Amino acid sequence: MAVPKRRTSKTVKNKRRTHYKLQVPGMTTCTNCGEIKLAHRICKSCGHYKGKEVVGE
Ligand SMILES: [Zn+2]
Repeated sequence: MAVPKRRTSKTVKNKRRTHYKLQVPGMTTCTNCGEIKLAHRICKSCGHYKGKEVVGE
């Protein structure tokens, strides 16, 4: 059985999953107005989705 040659240091162990949750909650910026919006949803501030206006006033 393979056995690790060196003990994993505290620093390496703690750094292991630091990059996992950088932008997970499905947030993107609107291509039309640049507002932060939920992914796969219509932009709340300008009503655009996939480059065209969906919600009309
Ligand atoms: Zn927008």
